[in-house]
Amino acid sequence: MSMFSIQNLHAGYGAVSVLKGISLEINAGEVVAIIGANGAGKTTTLMAISGVVSLQSGHILFCDEPISGLPPHTIVEKGICHVPEGRHIFPSLTVLENLEMGAYLQKNSDQQKADLESVFERFPLLRSRANQRGGTLSGGEQQMLAIGRALMSRPKLLLLDEPSLGLAPLMVEKIFEMIQYISQQGTTILLVEQNAHAALGLADRGYVMETGKIVLSDQADRLLHHQAVQEAYLGGSFSD
Ligand code: ATP
Repeated sequence: MSMFSIQNLHAGYGAVSVLKGISLEINAGEVVAIIGANGAGKTTTLMAISGVVSLQSGHILFCDEPISGLPPHTIVEKGICHVPEGRHIFPSLTVLENLEMGAYLQKNSDQQKADLESVFERFPLLRSRANQRGGTLSGGEQQMLAIGRALMSRPKLLLLDEPSLGLAPLMVEKIFEMIQYISQQGTTILLVEQNAHAALGLADRGYVMETGKIVLSDQADRLLHHQAVQEAYLGGSFSD
C-alpha cells in the first residue's frame, strides 16, 4: 500500500488547465523523481499537492486519508512539507531564526531545541552560520537552509522543487548528498528536477512529465538507460 498517491489529477490556474490527468504513487521511504522540460507542470504538481493550487478534479491520498481541498497549513500539519523553487528563505532573518520559523508546529520548546540540534548536527555549515542573515548566504547555502527549515517541521513526505537550480556543480553535489542523507534517515521524498541525471542517480523511481501528463514511469536506473529519456533529458551525457 503506497504512503501517498495521486489519482487522475487535473489542476491549473483559473481557466488554464495545466495538469491533465496525473496519477502517481510513492511508497514510504522512497525517493521519487519527477523529471521533464520547462513548463511540463512539475512545479504545478507540487503546488497542487501542498494545497497552493486548487484541483479541478482527481484525488490525493496521504497515509490513507484524502487531502485534496485542504488548506496548505493543514497539509503541513499532516506531515507534507514543500521546499519551493527559489528557496524562499527570509533574507533579513538569521539562519537560526529561519530554522525556528520552520518549527512553528512544534509547541514543545525542548523538542524544538532537540530538532534544531539535530539539523545543526546533520548540517554543520548551518550551525557555523547561525547568526548570519539568510540573505547573505550563497545560493547553495540558502538551499541548504530552506531544506533544513523544512526538516524542522518533521515531515513524513518532503517535496523538493528544483533544489539544484542555479547552483555550481560542486554545490549541486553537496545538496544531493544532503537529500540522500535525509532519505537514509527515513524521510520519504518527492523530488522535482530539470537535472535529470542527478535526480535519477539518487531516486528509486521516476516519472517523466510532458505538457501536463505523465508519459513514462519506471525504476530510476531503468529511466537513466531509456533511450527516449537519454535523448530528451540527459543530453546524451549518459553512456553505458
Ligand atoms: P519549470 O521547470 O519551468 O518550473 P515546470 O515543469 O515546473 O517547469 P510549471 O511551472 O508547473 O512547469 O508550469 C506549467 C505551465 O503552467 C506552464 O505553461 C506555465 O506557463 C503555467 N503556469 C505556471 N504558473 C502559472 C500561473 N501562476 N498562472 C498561469 N499559468 C501558470
